[in-house]
Parts: sequence; C-alpha cells; structure tokens
Amino acid sequence: MSEIRPPLRHADFSFSARQGNELVLGGLPLSRLAARIGQTPFYAYERAALDRRIQELRAALPGEVALHYAIKANPMPALVDHLARQLDGFDLASGGELAVALDSGMAPEHISFAGPGKTRTELEQAVAAGVLLNVESLREVRLLADISQARGWTARVAVRINPDFELKSSGMKMGGGAKPFGVDAEQVPDLLREIARQGLAFEGFHLYAGSQNLRADAIVEAQQKSFELCLRLAEAAPSPVRTFNLGGGFGIPYFPGEQRLALEPIGENLAALAGRCAREQPEARLELELGRYLVGEAGIYVCRILDRKISRGQVFLVTDGGLHHHLAASGNFGQVIRKNYPVAIGTKMGSAEREIASVVGPLCTPLDLLAERMELAAAEPGDLVVVFQSGAYGRTASPADFLSHPHVREVLV
Ligand SMILES: *Cc1c(COP(=O)(O)O)cnc(C)c1O
Repeated sequence: MSEIRPPLRHADFSFSARQGNELVLGGLPLSRLAARIGQTPFYAYERAALDRRIQELRAALPGEVALHYAIKANPMPALVDHLARQLDGFDLASGGELAVALDSGMAPEHISFAGPGKTRTELEQAVAAGVLLNVESLREVRLLADISQARGWTARVAVRINPDFELKSSGMKMGGGAKPFGVDAEQVPDLLREIARQGLAFEGFHLYAGSQNLRADAIVEAQQKSFELCLRLAEAAPSPVRTFNLGGGFGIPYFPGEQRLALEPIGENLAALAGRCAREQPEARLELELGRYLVGEAGIYVCRILDRKISRGQVFLVTDGGLHHHLAASGNFGQVIRKNYPVAIGTKMGSAEREIASVVGPLCTPLDLLAERMELAAAEPGDLVVVFQSGAYGRTASPADFLSHPHVREVLV
C-alpha cells in the first residue's frame, strides 16, 4: 500500500534476545532451556512475543472490533490459557478444541465453532456448553433443532457464508466458488427461514475467505465485500444481527523477500466498517478470528545436531528433529515450491564462520529436510538448530508417528 518497507532478510526473523553466541528465550539461553526441558526436539513459545503481537493489533485496530483466536493454529493448553486472559473470544473446529477452550476459562458466550462435518455428538457438546455454532449446512440446522427439542436447550447459531468472491493472493483459499465450507450466499435466505422455523437462536454471520495473506489491500477488499454481503443478507435475518465475524487470513512472512503485513490500512477500513455497523445494525459487533498471525512468530522449533556428514562436497547436518514434528518447515504442508524457513544455529548466533549446509532429520525419506543448502554458522554435533516462525501449524499439523521416533515437547516460556 502507501508505505514502502524493505523486504525481509533471513536474519530479520530472529526475534529473540542473545547472550554470547546463544539465542535467549524467556530469559534462558537455548542450551540451558534444552537442559531444563530434558530433551530435544522441542517447541518453545514466548509469552512476551505473544503479548507484543496482541498489543500491536490492539493499537492498530479499532477498539470496537473483537479479536478472537482460532485454536487450530496452536492448541497447546498453556498457550490457549495465556491468550484467554487477553483476547475477546475463541474459534474452534472440533470437539477436542472445544474442551481446550472451555478448560481455559473463556466464557462460552465468546466461543464459536465452525467446520464442515460436525458430528451429532460435537453439536450436542457445543449446545450443552452454550457456544455459538457457525452452521454450514441444512443438515446441521436440522440436527441442532432435533437436539434442542430433545434436550430443551437453545442452540445459538450463526450462518457461515461461502461468499460469491475470493480472497485475492491468499496462501489457501477457503471461500468463493464451489467449496465444502459454509453455505453458498445465494442459499442463505432459505437457511435463515429454516433457522427461524425451527426456533433456533440466530445471532449472526461468519465468513472465512482464506489464510496466509500478506497483502493488506487484498484483506481490506475481502473485509469490505464480506461486510456488504453480511448487511445484504441481514435483511433476511429472523432477528437483529449480533455478530459479524469477518474471518481473518492475516499472514506472517516466512521467506526472505517477503514483507510484513501492513496493519494500518486494515485498521482504517475496519474503523469505517465499525461506524457503518453502528448505524445500520446497532446490535451487531464486528469480530476477527486470527490464528497464525497471533502465534506464528512467537514460537521456535529446536532440534539437536547428531551428525555432520559431507557427501560429494556438500555438508549435511543430521538432527534429531524433522518433518514428523514440523511438517510445514519441511515444505510439505501447503507449499507449492519448497523454500527454506528461517533457520539458524541457536548456539552459534554471532559466529563469523559460515558455510552452506543442509539440515535434515533422522527419517529415512528425502522429504525430511529442514533447510536446503542454506548459509548457516558452521556447526558441529551437539549444536542446536532453531527454526523460526514456528508457533503456528507445528506439532499438531505434523505426522508425529511416522517412523516411530520420540514425540516433540512443547513449552511456554
Ligand atoms: C484455519 C482457520 C482460521 C485460522 O486461520 P489462520 O490462517 O491461522 O489465521 C480461522 N478461521 C477458520 C474458520 C479457519 O478454518
């Protein structure tokens, strides 16, 4: 947009402090943190980094916009508890995530549940808990009516809309065109009639157009269109709208040459939307649900070098960690062309001796690659490898049991 920012270099990702040659996280040098945990590999998430991110968002976005966390990005209970004290709500996508959200103490009133293919048991759990259900089909409406009638509990519902537009430049598109998510915008009025007929408590609309977007102009356009669509569909609503959940999709940079998302234009546009919302739907509040953006930059993955091999002139650092813990860093979680995540030798941070090396895991597959021919500090067995930008879609998005190695640990520091 208006502002010119320099593209990021690999070194720009190292958010943590240093002490001597060691990265410092939560006040502990990395090798001491590893000793405290008692094993590598591990994920470490930093409270201070989470707090900084929330403060930045609060400063840039209008106060009327509620900030929710999408638990799917990282469901570690201690991290979810930490966020529960600072954010306005949670969004979930399974019965398992519902349990984590409720344990955190977040009020059910501020929890919503989306996702295609919710089972009857999950719907019943959610109605029993009193959370808002983002319904995605006529079947879900009928099941909820059935549950409400059988149990005498009121189901709170919002309609998840599959919009008639797409989120441009998104890493993963989840709205627009033919999709398994939500209800096509043109079918929403019929679904609203059914919700009213069945006596469910209608509360609003939910839209989620896509994920991992670094372009503020694309996000602004999607939020603008989402809001207009919600206002249009609100005319067919059985009762006043109380929530417009405009989704999220805020991305974080992973690769050199990318730029951080500019929040200012998004904040300005949301302020205008909040003003219109107050005039046209005075009972409604705007919500955003962010996953990766809240937690992705606050976490690192750490593994230890077991072996250093030279094959036909190329250096391979073989570690005790890999794609079974961190599929995304190996390039096999939604990347089309494999690129290196920001990686560093966490026990040789200041070192002037550098070399080109590949970092691989212990799995017997060429896919188990954490860095391919990357410039790193010259490292030896015993040194710790750090993968930055690892706070989202890490442990729970990885095939932990593939090749039956030990599981990764997680800490919040
Ligand atoms: C995955 C998902 C999110 C979180 O997406 P991020 O890219 O991590 O911000 C939010 N809402 C819904 C409905 C999702 O499916």
